[in-house]
Amino acid sequence: MKIHEYQAKNLFKKNGLPVPKGRVTSNSEEAIDISKEIGFPSVVKAQVHVGGRGKANAIELVKDEESCEKASKRILGMDVKGFPVHSVLIEEAANIDKEYYLGLILDRNLKDNILMVSAMGGVDIEDVAENHPESILKIPLNFSSSIEDKDIEKVLSFLKLKDSLKAGFVDVLKGLVDVYFQNDAQLAEINPLVLTKEENWLACDGKVLIDDNALFRQQELKELKEDLESNEIEREAHKKGIAYVKLDGDVGIIGNGAGLVMTTMDEVSRAGGKPANFLDIGGGAKKEVMEQCLEVIYSDAQVKGLFINIFGGITRCDEVARGLVEVLKTREKSIPIVLRLAGTSSEEGRAIIEPLDSVITAETMSEGAKKIVAAMS
Ligand code: GDP
Ligand code: MN
Repeated sequence: MKIHEYQAKNLFKKNGLPVPKGRVTSNSEEAIDISKEIGFPSVVKAQVHVGGRGKANAIELVKDEESCEKASKRILGMDVKGFPVHSVLIEEAANIDKEYYLGLILDRNLKDNILMVSAMGGVDIEDVAENHPESILKIPLNFSSSIEDKDIEKVLSFLKLKDSLKAGFVDVLKGLVDVYFQNDAQLAEINPLVLTKEENWLACDGKVLIDDNALFRQQELKELKEDLESNEIEREAHKKGIAYVKLDGDVGIIGNGAGLVMTTMDEVSRAGGKPANFLDIGGGAKKEVMEQCLEVIYSDAQVKGLFINIFGGITRCDEVARGLVEVLKTREKSIPIVLRLAGTSSEEGRAIIEPLDSVITAETMSEGAKKIVAAMS
């Protein structure tokens, strides 16, 4: 379960971590009030479940009431990589000297929690990992839910912090470890952890992912869950009972069975595409379900192509094909669609879509992935 930056920062605050003064709002007039209250300059930050807001122009530094109003209106009306902005966090602006990265993450392969630290904060940690792997220190916590002194020493010497900054940094580090374990998180990250010109530490961004399986013992967080499905498309899909997760790519994906859908997403990535979603139509889906699934995919403006990968079993390929035909009838112009049908009644399914020249067929999953990426470029 994803939570918003302001919610992550509330968890930080509860554990004594230093966060900028601020408040969330969904209205530009209140945004001005908050700004006046905390003082200018302040920052207006879109609250959406996707990173890279800085680059996407969804964060703005404002110096007075007028620019605050303008920025809040602009950001509240925008959509960041397909995620509409419903609220903004207004915060006091930090006087940044240096940006660090601090994160804890569950490594499923090692089945251990890993602490990651870098002096190259502020930018996407995946980019840092790719281009400057030596600048990230990774320390497994060895199945403990706290950090050992010798590991703290390792971190401090890696970052070469001057003595006067060490105590404050260690407090942040220990606080983040507590946030991570107390909330059953799978990820808790501060990026950037800012060292201000006044030599204070400040968590200027926060990202926390909570393990869904632990929500039964996290009542408070569970109550947030409804808010948290902040993405309209996800909310609509879930109302219809469709297993759908919005992602930030542009290749729409439909498949039957969670495993097949995941593999399809991997294949698309391997072929150089970026999946726009996870969507499992489930077993035995009828034509109507397929139609609803397509509507969900089409409601995502980010989607520029669609790969449908069905391995017929209980799900009949002809039903899937009929649903697709129905929906395409109502559309003037279609995005490129690649359809791969295998198994139960795949022959029939292929015969049904045969007259549609907008649909490209594929024999195998990897062929389909390559075809959709090619058709979109
Ligand atoms: P993200 O792009 O979604 O990860 O959003 P962040 O909250 O990490 O902000 C991105 C970048 O905006 C940061 O790395 C900073 O460089 C800048 N930024 C964010 N808050 C402040 C602030 O209070 N003051 C200043 N000067 N820059 C900020
Ligand atoms: Mn960030």
